[in-house]
Amino acid sequence: MTRKSAFCSQYSWFKGNLHCHSTYSDGKLAPHEVIELYRRNGWDFLAFAEHELYSNWEDLSDASFLVLPGVEVEVDVPKFGRCHHLVGIHTSGQGARHLENSPPVDMDGMVGAQRGIDRLCSEGYLAIYCHPLWSRVEWEDISELRGFNAIEIYNHGCEVESHTGIHLGHWDSFLRRGIVLWGVAVDDSHQWIEDYCGGWIMVNAPRLTVHDLTAAIAAGRFYSSTGPTIADFGLDGDTVYVECSPARAIHIVTYEEKGRSHYAPPGESISYASHSLRGDELFVRAEVVDSQGRIAWTNPIFL
Ligand SMILES: [Zn+2]
Ligand SMILES: [Zn+2]
Repeated sequence: MTRKSAFCSQYSWFKGNLHCHSTYSDGKLAPHEVIELYRRNGWDFLAFAEHELYSNWEDLSDASFLVLPGVEVEVDVPKFGRCHHLVGIHTSGQGARHLENSPPVDMDGMVGAQRGIDRLCSEGYLAIYCHPLWSRVEWEDISELRGFNAIEIYNHGCEVESHTGIHLGHWDSFLRRGIVLWGVAVDDSHQWIEDYCGGWIMVNAPRLTVHDLTAAIAAGRFYSSTGPTIADFGLDGDTVYVECSPARAIHIVTYEEKGRSHYAPPGESISYASHSLRGDELFVRAEVVDSQGRIAWTNPIFL
């Protein structure tokens, strides 16, 4: 059997954060200071997602560090005390607005969040649904939403602030309905507390450019992490395999079949797991947990 990897071995890996703030909204540090913080810690790219403000700091990018044009849009649900936040990442940089306000989106029943997604998409942005647990949205609040590219499954800022950062339930609910949606780990850092460099994505792309990175993100050619590294994930005939940094557990998640968890013997670690598929699974994805409890998540492969 020949392996069919979810990644391309000729491409490079780029580490980045799709969601952070600066003094241009409610962050503590100026954009160049945020960039320096991430560069120093080994990141290759980040996106400023200022509240209701488009930014495109292309002048602050160079050959080794890329700033993606971004924005964070809020759609209020005042009646319920819930909210929808959406991050937009521009896919080319061409025509991306800089320091222009994003007009507020009316909730208008449940229509508003879809209107926010549609507006971002029509303006050339990938749309990411943010921190569903922090926003306290129920499944019925978002189940009808379509056309967005990803949902935050880990938001480090929310996790550090109020243990509301990790949530996979809504993501899996979309996947079980056959809706292709990627899961992203982000920082949402504001730098007032230690809410940076805790959740990231590793993007498998040819070059560090806005186009190549966002094309890879749109195609799901990345994984999310708070620590572990995933070297490979894919199919070998009817077997799914994962290669990763030393782990205490590797979980293979499938639907409607239940998948399988693999554990290292006490005091040891594992860096490979495989699982024979039955053939009628809708999708398969994997989670890797290291000895400190940090997690990496692959995107799903739809079968
Ligand atoms: Zn937010
Ligand atoms: Zn934010």
